[in-house]
Amino acid sequence: MDNVKRIVRGGTCTGCGACRICEHISFEKNRRGFYSPMVDGQCTGCGRCVAACLYDPQREGNDSPRASGPGLF
Ligand code: SF4
Ligand code: SF4
Repeated sequence: MDNVKRIVRGGTCTGCGACRICEHISFEKNRRGFYSPMVDGQCTGCGRCVAACLYDPQREGNDSPRASGPGLF
């Protein structure tokens, strides 16, 4: 099952909100005070939210520094 939890866990989520396309995703403040997507237990794993995310390191052709993981710039 693939959803934006993987992107949040991987540390590349910017909280941009582009994945807010599904009723199973809500945005809540994380421990550092930034909004981050939360996925409820009804997620079907369809992957639409992942497809909407520009910061998914697994996205084809995604070579932006932010999406490749932690770095200086
Ligand atoms: S679209 Fe990607 S970067 Fe934007 S909030 Fe959702 S998981 Fe985070
Ligand atoms: S149902 Fe699909 S779009 Fe919604 S959170 Fe799950 S994988 Fe993402």
